Amino acid sequence: MDETRRAFLRVAMAAAGTAAAPVASEAQPQRAEHQALPSDITLRVKSLESLLVEKGLVDRKALDALIDTYEHKIGPRNGARVVARAWVDAAYKRRLLTDADAALAELGYGGMQGEHMVAVENSSSVHNLVVCTLCSCYPWPVLGLPPVWYKSAPYRSRSVIDPRGVLRGFGLELPQEVEVRVWDSTAELRYMVVPQRPLGAETLSEEQLAALVTRDSIIGVGVISATPAGTRP
Ligand code: FE
Repeated sequence: MDETRRAFLRVAMAAAGTAAAPVASEAQPQRAEHQALPSDITLRVKSLESLLVEKGLVDRKALDALIDTYEHKIGPRNGARVVARAWVDAAYKRRLLTDADAALAELGYGGMQGEHMVAVENSSSVHNLVVCTLCSCYPWPVLGLPPVWYKSAPYRSRSVIDPRGVLRGFGLELPQEVEVRVWDSTAELRYMVVPQRPLGAETLSEEQLAALVTRDSIIGVGVISATPAGTRP
């Protein structure tokens, strides 16, 4: 791709990604540019990785284990720490909801795939759901790598068309009076949900609260129980 076309697309993507409004409140999808074009160095790295695997110099299983660690362990724990801090510190929550980048930086989170973050808060009357309708834009610094279902076509399309149906598929049946807001993450803006603090967790410490927070609740497809997943009957 020549530099002129690349520059044009860069400007177009910047213009398209500036609005911080929900893509849909139950419906009404909007178009937005999503994925930044891979840089030349990214393409070279991908080619090199393919060659190393093909020649048997890199173990694909080891790579998968590494990815799994970031996807399930390291990444989501960062987001959980952010949510727990917001629950126990009202001033921090205000900063998170008004300037997420700065608030996340306070806890040491930021950087690639999380340069421009917006945090949206669930309440008893509003439930937020995050999707990337065109690809897989996702806040890496607070959630790690996206799960496979997040990148799937059914999730990407149905989240806008039938968000309550999607939530039902995750075992979450919301009362009709709760408004569902759908946020479309892009290369320019990536969203995270601040879920509701569960009832029955009033006496828990910040660290104990963080242990309750799940990846899915920060995407908006889950809610949080006061009992950690591993200890439920
Ligand atoms: Fe995207």
